[in-house]
Amino acid sequence: MLSNYKHIIWDWNGTLLNDVGLCVDIVNNILVKKNLNPLSIIEYKNIFTFPIRNYYERAGFDFSQYTFEEVGLEWMYEYERRRLECMLHSGVTETLMLLKENRIGQSILSAYPHNTLLEIIAHFSLNDFFTHIVGLDNIYATSKVELGKALMKKISNGNGKVLLVGDTEHDCEVAEEIGTDCVLIADGHQSKQKLLACNVPVFDSLLEFSSRLNNSGL
Ligand SMILES: [Mg+2]
Repeated sequence: MLSNYKHIIWDWNGTLLNDVGLCVDIVNNILVKKNLNPLSIIEYKNIFTFPIRNYYERAGFDFSQYTFEEVGLEWMYEYERRRLECMLHSGVTETLMLLKENRIGQSILSAYPHNTLLEIIAHFSLNDFFTHIVGLDNIYATSKVELGKALMKKISNGNGKVLLVGDTEHDCEVAEEIGTDCVLIADGHQSKQKLLACNVPVFDSLLEFSSRLNNSGL
């Protein structure tokens, strides 16, 4: 059996979209402008966390000199401008196809703004794989947890096992809050060492996750 799960909830940034390189490049440009040291990808993955303000402080930003909002806005402007430079992780389309063929439902739950999430998923022609695509809408929700709870009602009404696949400790916290199992992939925004502390299965890459589905099920 491929999977005992009836539905998979995917995180987007770092899990399906390989945007780590872009995020590091953008933050490094801002750090250097402020005469701070740039981060290597390994350093980034060791300090990245939520809330983002804590990660910025670990990166060296001094919010007594300028505001968190100023850095955040500059980062977001650059990310929006350059987001189409990103590629999907290897094996995304094949994995989504494998699950679809095996009639396992799939959704996306992201902290990314809803409208831009829809646009970028359409850009990669992935819409048809998902029954629900849910991003943050600041008018109606303030966190991924609230949106996730609403999504769970829509996809399962509590029936059938649901698995959340993400790339950060926060995804694991969300899974716990909304009542799903969780696996993490250490090819995104946080290091494997950090993810292992979550006590859920951790895969090195989406390809490794996919081959586990194919070979021994999950
Ligand atoms: Mg993520």
